[in-house]
Amino acid sequence: MLLERDLKSREPLLWVNPRRSPEWVPDDALNPVEAEERFKRNAGVLQQTFPMLQAAGGTLSSPLVKIPKAQARLCATTNTKNTGTWWLKRDDSLPIAGSVKARGAFHEILHFAETLQRQYEEANGVKAALSSPTMRALFSEYTVAVGSTGNLGMGVGLIAAGLGFRAVVHMSREAASWKKDKLRARGIEVVEHAGDYAAAVAAGREVAMRDEHIHFVDDEKSHELFLGYSAAGREVADQLNELGLQVDDEHPLFVYIPCGVGGAPGGIAYGLRRIFGKNLHCFFAEPVESPAMLVQMASGSAEPVDIYEFGLSNRTLADGLAVPQASMLVAPLMQSLLSGIFLVQDETLYQDLLCLVEDEQIRVEPSAVAALRGPTWLGSSDAGRAYIEKHGLADKMAQANHVIWSTGGALLPPEIFNNYIEQARSAVLQNVHVDLD
Ligand SMILES: *Cc1c(COP(=O)(O)O)cnc(C)c1O
Repeated sequence: MLLERDLKSREPLLWVNPRRSPEWVPDDALNPVEAEERFKRNAGVLQQTFPMLQAAGGTLSSPLVKIPKAQARLCATTNTKNTGTWWLKRDDSLPIAGSVKARGAFHEILHFAETLQRQYEEANGVKAALSSPTMRALFSEYTVAVGSTGNLGMGVGLIAAGLGFRAVVHMSREAASWKKDKLRARGIEVVEHAGDYAAAVAAGREVAMRDEHIHFVDDEKSHELFLGYSAAGREVADQLNELGLQVDDEHPLFVYIPCGVGGAPGGIAYGLRRIFGKNLHCFFAEPVESPAMLVQMASGSAEPVDIYEFGLSNRTLADGLAVPQASMLVAPLMQSLLSGIFLVQDETLYQDLLCLVEDEQIRVEPSAVAALRGPTWLGSSDAGRAYIEKHGLADKMAQANHVIWSTGGALLPPEIFNNYIEQARSAVLQNVHVDLD
């Protein structure tokens, strides 16, 4: 394959998607409006159920903030000029789940709860509110199960338990112990599996298939997770509008999102593309050791392709992105939508964690900074410059807006974050040393 040598070198790179088309057509079966309405309809329930959502009226949203100092630092270190304005989309601060997973998890669990509610109302000929004691008693007879090494388990577990479901999170051996502790402290059952992530998911899926009182949240296949993420498109459109920012032929919008299996970034990209059309230029970021979406999309194959075929290890500091194989629901949906994918090394994640905390006082987890250098790829690489040329954007970059998605961090215990920062400082020092040699 074209890319094989480059992937094996574990050097950062930008891959531009040759199949991106300005004439992209959405899939009628997947409409973000459905998720937007489900969120709206249940805002009252969410507000009542989760005290944390009270101030926001039961809506789930995150700020969009300028990061001028980080922009200045990274443009200087990469010699990037004329990049317009950088924004950080703070999904690291989303309530309850503390990560982008809140969007998908809330939507899927609300969808399941509404399904049970409808069945109950039809069977009994009465109305019952989602947050009523009757419904909570019914929900307590059901288990929501999920396989996860981290944020998806946290999100689904905390949200499902909040609505009254029994919740079980299947975790692989490597899952961080603070995550297991936090879940258990909220009454959520954690099942530890001796194998890896895939084995934990498979075990969870199998138990659920044998029992109709178990709902399994399937990260690799779920439409409801995808739609929950896609509702972020409208949220960003509204925020840009409030800020008085245009998106049109003269003002392109660039969006950069960290990618694991692809559900979260795929759903967000899909929601944005429906609104902004060809003026949206969306790129994903993956670790050099786990470029699951890249190997899938670059192969052009309808069959699953995984990173192990390229001798890669799937070991990365970005635990939220450490996935060997992309979602086969999402990869085909990205085929003519996505602009490209760039890869980042762990050393860069360390540097960029430091950059955000020192320059902008923003604390996130390593996975969440994977996309931070997105805008620099366009101005400072041959592939990026060729993309800009091809789309006639050269004279529009100064008025472009770049939205960098920050995907997680709020639940990270301070001592874990401080460990990262210590490691980051020593890694950066070592790099300086190596450079001087
Ligand atoms: C899950 C996750 C992602 C990526 O989402 P996928 O749906 O796996 O692609 C990115 N960042 C963080 C922090 C995550 O937890």
